[in-house]
Amino acid sequence: MLTMGVDIGSATSKVVILKDGKEILAGVVISVGTGTSGPARALQQALDIAKVEKSDISKVVVTGYGRMTYEGADEQVSEITCHAKGVHHLVPTARTVIDIGGQDAKVIKLDEHGYVSNFVMNEKCAAGTGRFLEVMARVLEVSVGDLESLGAKAENVVPISSTCTVFAESEVISQLAAGQKSADVVAGIHQSVARRIAGLAGRVGLTPTVVMTGGVAQNGGVVQALEQELKTTITVAPKSQLTGALGAALIAFESFAKATDNVTAVK
Ligand code: ADP
Repeated sequence: MLTMGVDIGSATSKVVILKDGKEILAGVVISVGTGTSGPARALQQALDIAKVEKSDISKVVVTGYGRMTYEGADEQVSEITCHAKGVHHLVPTARTVIDIGGQDAKVIKLDEHGYVSNFVMNEKCAAGTGRFLEVMARVLEVSVGDLESLGAKAENVVPISSTCTVFAESEVISQLAAGQKSADVVAGIHQSVARRIAGLAGRVGLTPTVVMTGGVAQNGGVVQALEQELKTTITVAPKSQLTGALGAALIAFESFAKATDNVTAVK
């Protein structure tokens, strides 16, 4: 039986096709999110990779920031629930999830069954999100994918004191103009994200195993800065950007299997 999870974020569109609630047949990330052609393109690419038709999919669950306006799904589920589900499947010992996406950041506490026991979310401000890193990467004339390798060359950390993204951008421009090395400034940018997330995490507390998801988890510089800030080891979820879509596909599988069982039981 095939199920599909669609995760429509602010920055990216993700689709996972799952076979029998276990095997990932396709996982696709397209670098544009809600309100774009991203969701449709991600869906078609996933179908092509899995070599199946949309009609072969038993159930589709949509999640993410753009889920409310998506019409191609059977059910909508919150990102918090989907991330928790996806992470529990990949790392059963996970008790805390740190998800940093394009426009928000969340810290989610899980119980031993993968159910959400508490969470805290920053969706009001770009600080501590992927957007903050995108703005800074533009000033540095690099891509977000290059920040990790650039930051790894840092000899000193140039601290970025402004929390506000707009003021922090001006601060980065001033530091570069004053002759600071871009690598050292990047280290300060990573530290700024880590401090912001640590503040968020402090509100729910951290229980190991701590797992990181979302696009920003691909930046090892942020992961390392966060480990230093939180004084804990962080496990980066495999395919970190697909965790929400995976969780959605798992929820689709469970709910379809349950409905089918009920029909069989009635018969
Ligand atoms: P959302 O689900 O909110 O759309 P994602 O979890 O997909 O967001 O994360 C998007 C963010 O991930 C981008 O804003 C960017 O900062 C970061 N990102 C994307 N690709 C990379 C990469 N290759 N390396 C590091 N960071 C990345």
